[in-house]
Amino acid sequence: MDFTLNEQQQHWQRVARDFAQNRVAPIAREMDETGEMPLSLVTEMAELGLLGATLPKELGGSEIDHLSLALIYEELGRACSSVRGFMTVHSSLVMQCINHWGSEEQRTKFLPMLASGSEIGCYALTEPEAGSDAASISTRARKVNGGYILDGEKIWITNGNIARLAIVFAKLVAPEFEAKKPHERITAFLVPLESEGVQRVPMPGQELGHRASDHAHIVFKDCFVSSEMVLGGEGKGFKVAMSALDHGRLGVAAGALGVHQACLDASVDFVRKRKQFGQRIGDFEMVQSSIAEMKASLDASRLLVYRAAWTKDQGLPSKSETSVAKYFATEAACKAASDAVLLHGGRGYSNEYPVERYYRDIKGLQIYEGTAHIQKIVIAREVIGKETRS
Ligand SMILES: Cc1cc2nc3c(=O)[nH]c(=O)nc-3n(C[C@H](O)[C@H](O)[C@H](O)COP(=O)(O)OP(=O)(O)OC[C@H]3O[C@@H](n4cnc5c(N)ncnc54)[C@H](O)[C@@H]3O)c2cc1C
Repeated sequence: MDFTLNEQQQHWQRVARDFAQNRVAPIAREMDETGEMPLSLVTEMAELGLLGATLPKELGGSEIDHLSLALIYEELGRACSSVRGFMTVHSSLVMQCINHWGSEEQRTKFLPMLASGSEIGCYALTEPEAGSDAASISTRARKVNGGYILDGEKIWITNGNIARLAIVFAKLVAPEFEAKKPHERITAFLVPLESEGVQRVPMPGQELGHRASDHAHIVFKDCFVSSEMVLGGEGKGFKVAMSALDHGRLGVAAGALGVHQACLDASVDFVRKRKQFGQRIGDFEMVQSSIAEMKASLDASRLLVYRAAWTKDQGLPSKSETSVAKYFATEAACKAASDAVLLHGGRGYSNEYPVERYYRDIKGLQIYEGTAHIQKIVIAREVIGKETRS
């Protein structure tokens, strides 16, 4: 077993770390306060070759492996979860999905624009009454001459107000689909968001974390989508949605690793400097115990996230490894963020220090792209297997 990163992986780790530490980290607090991520960061990520990531070079990509991609997400997550979240949706949920399921025409039409950052993508699955239970979506696609008419609403769509292209999931309304199971009726559509019949507004309310992320409520009303915009074929949308999530979950798991590392870095720095009872607090055994737990769980998360990426790179089935990584890394990072706030005492409770942002942001990673409960269901199903009936 070889734990060393190869030259290509070290290169992408360095590129992402330089960008994250020099361009993102210095403005992370300001972005959190203003609620906006400057779009110039998207251009910079594109110029560095980060956005195209795993795509083939002829489509504007960088042809990197999944482990390098995980290293990029880790470095971005260490600096800012909103920026990492932007890229996970744009590059993993949208671009990797179009690359896998798209026709030649769709791939050549959309991927170079997305890789260059001139167009932004979003992934629209969640609805007011359908979150974890994705098969219960009620957005409908009625078949008409030359295409489909979409009606329905989507919520929590990351990048939804700034994107020009969405992968939208809807149930087909057509005689040949009437008798099918709910998930067999789902179809994925590539929808230009400037189309007639699309209304989008920012999600209402102040969000706990990811405050520089863009989250939209999107309504489709009599929205025409032409036949060539079906992604992956009629009735294949559930598979498309799940395979996209499998890519995205690796990004979330790696992002959690970055948050966890940031919590450890901030805590070590603080416990070395802060003095109470005449000594630095890092010399109290209870504080050392917290730091040791944070470091041990970080190492365990890192091995699981890298294993999931490596499994993908071998072309092996990786659903279980990815869910284990997403579940473990997000839970471990939640605990690390909570401990980091405690170790900072009252200072940890104010945005004078970054740990309160890590604490708010990390809850999102535990929820989106399949909650911790849903990951446990995926893992348990893989371990126990499907029931065989005689
Ligand atoms: C910051 C953020 C960004 C997001 N970005 C996107 C995006 O870009 N695109 C998109 O489509 N969606 C997005 N989402 C939505 C996200 O994917 C959903 O919030 C998530 O899937 C959970 O769905 P829900 O909120 O409806 O909760 P629910 O599904 O209602 O779940 C509520 C609770 O019930 C639990 N639960 C549900 N079913 C089960 C079960 N079978 N067994 C045990 N427990 C269960 C859940 O784990 C959770 O604890 C985003 C959400 C957030 C917070």
